[in-house]
Amino acid sequence: LNTDAWKTLIYQTRCYLRHQAEIYGDEIFVKEAGALDSPRESNNASVLDLYKKQIQNCQKCSLAHHRRHFVFGAGNPEARLILIGEAPGEEEDRVGEPFVGKAGQLLDRILAAIDFERDEVFIANILKCRPPQNRDPMEEEIRQCMPHLLGQIEIIRPRIILTLGRVAAQGLLATSESLTRLRGREHCFHNIPMLVTYHPAALLRNPEWKRHTWEDVKQLRYMYDDLIGDKPKWQPPRM
Ligand code: SF4
Repeated sequence: LNTDAWKTLIYQTRCYLRHQAEIYGDEIFVKEAGALDSPRESNNASVLDLYKKQIQNCQKCSLAHHRRHFVFGAGNPEARLILIGEAPGEEEDRVGEPFVGKAGQLLDRILAAIDFERDEVFIANILKCRPPQNRDPMEEEIRQCMPHLLGQIEIIRPRIILTLGRVAAQGLLATSESLTRLRGREHCFHNIPMLVTYHPAALLRNPEWKRHTWEDVKQLRYMYDDLIGDKPKWQPPRM
């Protein structure tokens, strides 16, 4: 194994053990040898496209009745970093793409601040259909839709997850802890290191949270360099 592969293995092992400890306490159960597999090369684009065709007519919850578009997600099918938000809003439902409009533009600027282009990452939501009047997703809707997201993660196999907003963080971590308490520390989701930050739409309403988001994405970028290192090492701009 080279240095990067070792780092990945260490992160995944730490993530796996923490996840196991949360479930089983001090006892360790290793279910299968593949649990700590190293990353593989693959042709994710065609598999992801096929997967989209399989699920895009989903009728599992009542949100299917009101949607204009099923919003699968967008971005690089080979992305090392996946961003996960809450659910499509009005614009996303109209266009069929995640994070369009002002929140999407702000997300692009946040990514640019840590030297990422949108097409380097994959962006998805925990719900693929818009809740009426942009209300919060219901627990049951998240439960019904989660297999779609898990399928995407299984295909893309990202090395880091960043959740955007309280609903995504709480949904993935199955917790009711506040976003304030979840930010600033490393979590893991299905053995993948995960960080948490605010949703760009919330930042538009609460600009004072932008400085916290800056701390979160700096942590993300340092983790990316440490764990993956396929981009020039990042330095925060001098203020
Ligand atoms: S929100 Fe998810 S589970 Fe509900 S209909 Fe849409 S795709 Fe299916």
